[in-house]
Amino acid sequence: MEYITNSPEETEALGQKLGAVLKPGALIAYRGDLGAGKTAFTRGLARGLGSAMSVTSPTYTIVNEYTDGRLPLFHFDMYRLSSSDELWDIGWEDYLAQGAVLVVEWPERAGSLIPPEARHIVFLHRGEENRQIDIDI
Ligand code: ADP
Ligand code: MG
Repeated sequence: MEYITNSPEETEALGQKLGAVLKPGALIAYRGDLGAGKTAFTRGLARGLGSAMSVTSPTYTIVNEYTDGRLPLFHFDMYRLSSSDELWDIGWEDYLAQGAVLVVEWPERAGSLIPPEARHIVFLHRGEENRQIDIDI
């Protein structure tokens, strides 16, 4: 499905709708440039899952964890990953196995460690306040 949002709040609301219906073990790979709305969308996902935590970009941490909702939400940014071994070391298998919701920025940096059943969301700039969000779900 293709969506157009016209403000950060609309992007967040779209994420919230998806968050409300996600099932345990959902893994979502993101694609989109800086400022395309990935963090805004994830903020909505967290709300939809029932988390009250404040959502920030995981750029410097590799993973941010929001565990106070209906399902745990783990937001990964693989950009700074030096190798897939590093992902192994931080316990990727355990993250995958626990029936949480995983969202992953820069999934291509994790190579073959992203399972084939991952779903995809693409974020595109369509204007100052406009974003196109393609959800393959
Ligand atoms: P990313 O995580 O993809 O780098 P962010 O969600 O952190 O992007 O930032 C998106 C930026 O774009 C914010 O500054 C936000 O205010 C702005 N913005 C403008 N319009 C939108 C929109 N429709 N959806 C999401 N963000 C928007
Ligand atoms: Mg971001």
